[in-house]
Amino acid sequence: MSNALLDDRVPEAIPEQDPCSVYPQVPGIDCQSFQLPPEGLAPEGLQRALRQLRAYQAEKKASFLGFQANQKLDLQELAEYLDYHVNNIGDPFQQGSFGTNSKWMERAVLDYYARLWNAPWPHNPKNPNSYWGYVLAMGSTEGNLYGLWNARDYLSGKFLLYDPRELARLFAASQANESFELPSELLYVQAPLPAGEPEEYFVPVAFYSDSTHYSIVKILRVLGIQAVKVKSTGGPFGPGTIDVKDLVEKVKAYAARKHPILLCFNYGTTFKGAYDDVKAAGEALMPIFKKYGQDSRIIKNPGYKPVERTGYWSHVDGALGAAYMPFLERARVPIPQFDFRLPFVHSISMSGHKWIGAPWPCGIYMTRTKYQLSPTSDPAYIGSRDSTFAGSRNGFSAMILWYYLARNSYGAQTEKAVGLLKLAEQTEKDLWKLQKENWPNLDLQISRSPLSLTILFRQANPRIVAKYSLSNDEIGEGAGKRYYSHIYMMDHARDGRVQRLIEDLKARDAFDVPRDTSRLAAVAEQVLAPELLASDASFAAASGLEPLAVVPLSGRGFQ
Ligand SMILES: *Cc1c(COP(=O)(O)O)cnc(C)c1O
Repeated sequence: MSNALLDDRVPEAIPEQDPCSVYPQVPGIDCQSFQLPPEGLAPEGLQRALRQLRAYQAEKKASFLGFQANQKLDLQELAEYLDYHVNNIGDPFQQGSFGTNSKWMERAVLDYYARLWNAPWPHNPKNPNSYWGYVLAMGSTEGNLYGLWNARDYLSGKFLLYDPRELARLFAASQANESFELPSELLYVQAPLPAGEPEEYFVPVAFYSDSTHYSIVKILRVLGIQAVKVKSTGGPFGPGTIDVKDLVEKVKAYAARKHPILLCFNYGTTFKGAYDDVKAAGEALMPIFKKYGQDSRIIKNPGYKPVERTGYWSHVDGALGAAYMPFLERARVPIPQFDFRLPFVHSISMSGHKWIGAPWPCGIYMTRTKYQLSPTSDPAYIGSRDSTFAGSRNGFSAMILWYYLARNSYGAQTEKAVGLLKLAEQTEKDLWKLQKENWPNLDLQISRSPLSLTILFRQANPRIVAKYSLSNDEIGEGAGKRYYSHIYMMDHARDGRVQRLIEDLKARDAFDVPRDTSRLAAVAEQVLAPELLASDASFAAASGLEPLAVVPLSGRGFQ
C-alpha cells in the first residue's frame, strides 16, 4: 500500500509518556526495538528485535524450572502448519464446514484419553455412558469453567430442549408423510421444582479446598455459584490434599437442606502438586447423598418424559496429574483413583501445555454424554452444534497433542513419569543435603507432598528466581507466614539444571529476599476512610463489609 493512500487527518492517540519508561524492564530486551510505529519496522530493525527475542527465549528455556510446563518440545515437523489457519470451530464430533480443521485428529486424541481415563469410547450420542469432550482453546481454566458451567446448569434443573410443540408437530407431519422443517433453535429452560421440594433443591453449592487453583474461585464468581471452602489435610503446611472429614461435615449440612452438591477435586495442585483422594471422598459422601436424595433425582419438564439426574457433580481438576498419573499406575505405583472408573466422577480437565508440553495453553475437557445438557441422543441433529465454550478453537493444539501421543507410547510415558518421580525424590534429598551442609542456621523449609513432582523450599533471591523462572508463593498467615519458591520436575529438568540451581543456592545471598511493605501502606492511605485507618480493629469488623467471595492474590505461583 502506498503512503499516498493514507489520510493523515484521521486522528490517533499519541503517547502521553514513553511506554518504555512505564512498563517493566526486561533484562536482555531493548524495549525501544520492539515499539511498533505505524510504518512497521525496517528489515534491519525487525531482525535486531528477532535476535533479541531468540536470545531471550533460549536463555530462559535453558534454565526453566519453576512451573509445571514441559519445555522439551520437538515439534519442527509440524512447523509448516504455522502458515495454515487450522480451526476446529464447533463440536469435535461434527465435521462442520470450516475446511481447514483437524477434528479427526482431535477425536483420536479424545479417544486416547477416554481409554486412559476409563470412559466408554468412542463418543456415541446413542450411548449415554460414552464420553464426550473437546480440546480446549485455553488451558484447564477453560476446562474448569466448562465443567462447573455444565454442573451448575445440570444441578439447578436447566435444560436445553427443542420446543415440545414443534417436536410434536414434526412427529405428526412425519407420521402423515408430510414434509416438515427441522427446528432451528433450542429452548434453555428451568424445570419446575418437583412437588414438595424446597427452593434449595435447585441451588447448587460448590465445595473446594484451600489448595484449589485460583481459576476455580474466579469461575465460581463468573457463574454466580455459592461456595464453601474446605480444609486441606494438615493445615497450610500440610500436603495440600482435601480433608475428607471436613468435606463430609460441610457437605452434610448442605445436603440435608436438599442443596445439590458440586465437588471440585484437585488432581495435582498447582503449588504443592498434591492429589486429592477422589475415590475416598466420593465413597465417604455417597451415603449422605443416598440419605438426602442427591444420588438420584427425577426431574420433569412439562410436556416431556421425566429424566433422571444426579443431585451432585464431581469435577476433577487434573491439569497436571490426569496426564501422567495413569502412567505411574501402570508402573505399579499406588495412586489415588480419580478417573471414570469412579461412578461418581462427572468431568475431568487437563492442560496440554503442562505434562505434554504444547507451545501454548491448551487442554482437554471430558465428561459423559449423559451429563451434557443438549439433546444429544438426537441423531437428526442439524447444523454444527455449538457445544464447546469457545467458538473458534485452535486446531493446531489438537495436532500437537496427537503428534505427541503418536510418538510417545504408554511405555515411553511410563518411563518418563517414573524417571521424573525419582528425580523429584532425589532433588528433595539433595536439598536436605544443602540444608545440612550449607545452611545449618537457616530453615530452608524443604517440603514435598506424596507423589508430587514439585519440591518447595525457602524463597530464593530475585536473581535466582529470574534465572530459573521459579514460581513463588506464600503460605500461612500473619506472623506464621512463610515464603516459598518451588521447582517442578518436568521432562526438561533431566539435563542437570537442578544441580546448577543447587550450586546457585549455596551463594551467601541465595535467600536474601527484600520485602517491600511500603507500597501497601501507601494504598491503605489512599483508599481507606480516615476513621478506619485510625482503628486497629480487624477490617471486616470495623467496616462491616461482607465479601461475596474471597479472591486470592497469593497461591497463584506467578507473582
Ligand atoms: C495450571 C492449573 C490450572 C489452570 O490451567 P491453565 O492451563 O493455566 O488454564 C488449573 N488447575 C490446576 C491445578 C493447575 O495446576
